[in-house]
Amino acid sequence: MDWHRLREDFPILHQEVNGHPLIYLDSAASSQKPRCVIDAITRYYERDNANVHRALHALSMRATDAFEAARRTVARFISAVTENEIIFTRGTTESVNLVAYAWCGAHLKPGDVILTTGMEHHSDLVPWQFAARSTGATLKHIPVLDDGSLDQEAFERLLTPQVKLLALVHISNSLGTINPVREMCAKARAVGAISFVDAAQSTGHIPVNVQEIGCDFLAFSGHKICAPTGIGVLYGRMAVLEKMPPWHGGGEMILNVTLDSCTYKAPPARFEAGTPDIAGAIGLASAIDYLEAIGVSHIEQHGLELTSHALEKLGCIEGLRILGPATGPRGSLVSFHCDFAHPHDIVEWANTHGIALRGGHHCTQPLMKRFKVPGSTRASFYLYNTPQEIDQLAEVLDSARKFFS
Ligand code: PMP
Repeated sequence: MDWHRLREDFPILHQEVNGHPLIYLDSAASSQKPRCVIDAITRYYERDNANVHRALHALSMRATDAFEAARRTVARFISAVTENEIIFTRGTTESVNLVAYAWCGAHLKPGDVILTTGMEHHSDLVPWQFAARSTGATLKHIPVLDDGSLDQEAFERLLTPQVKLLALVHISNSLGTINPVREMCAKARAVGAISFVDAAQSTGHIPVNVQEIGCDFLAFSGHKICAPTGIGVLYGRMAVLEKMPPWHGGGEMILNVTLDSCTYKAPPARFEAGTPDIAGAIGLASAIDYLEAIGVSHIEQHGLELTSHALEKLGCIEGLRILGPATGPRGSLVSFHCDFAHPHDIVEWANTHGIALRGGHHCTQPLMKRFKVPGSTRASFYLYNTPQEIDQLAEVLDSARKFFS
């Protein structure tokens, strides 16, 4: 794979920032878009734009076909049994909120437990707090060990028959930890709990197969995998979706409406009230086609190589402490704390050298507290990054050390 040539697919990368060639190391927050995705969205608006599902005219039929084809593309990408298990949402956050409202509202009562972890993104934590508050259920957390992994012994202890839902992140956006989701979902199922996997950082980076993972729900965001913002996915196992009431009411999710009541369509339409993000879904399908043409396993390998190169290079910088797993595979990001400067100063310093990093709590405040740091600096990688960019990052971080010390 010629990773350098692949950069040509991303128009945004060919610019200077503060007099330096842009080095974009913030893909865990949002990825860049290849030309084919930008073109697919433009083509849709130039040729096919109309509302879906509602009319029999040519444009509406074309828009509907493309929208439903996108659903099939997503289903194939994550190995869902049927495309009816794919619900389009605005992103991971909305997907979690959907389940927290609709599934928890229908199934939880006081005494029940929602089990989550100490390394969740606020998106996979706050909605469960809401659900616990409104249903009377209790929220419990699997602790994080010093090496950035989950405390599996504590998990076994916490996994009582009262647990009705396990929600956990596949790859931590703050630490890079890859959690053993398959084993953990199987254990949850053994006590009768359903499982929710936040795959915002894993989808499009490593192969994600919902049947192999054995989860009941899985969520991801399009914008992190080369697709536009505003579109995401909630996968739900059909047997679970069929028993879940809707959350938003409106057009498209109903069968029959009277002035006093209504009946609902089957999933996924039941969960997609109103006009969806049609162009977003088409852009997402184009992004998936693009990633699949490269091969997600190749992207995974590239990510592993970049990450181990970064661990080696950054590990040599005095006063820089890397958070998360020191050994073994990890997600394509490196999070670190510099004892010579605040994360925001590091990010600003890098920006003056054309490098885009992220600094702060990364929407994981409890995790930052756990590691006794105010925040961290994060460099995150995707298919368009190169080892040379990481070498430059290491040089700039070392110059920051000299400047701030
Ligand atoms: N979970 C994880 C692990 C994430 O990294 C993110 C995005 N930073 C989210 C959830 C939320 O994704 P979005 O903002 O696209 O809804």
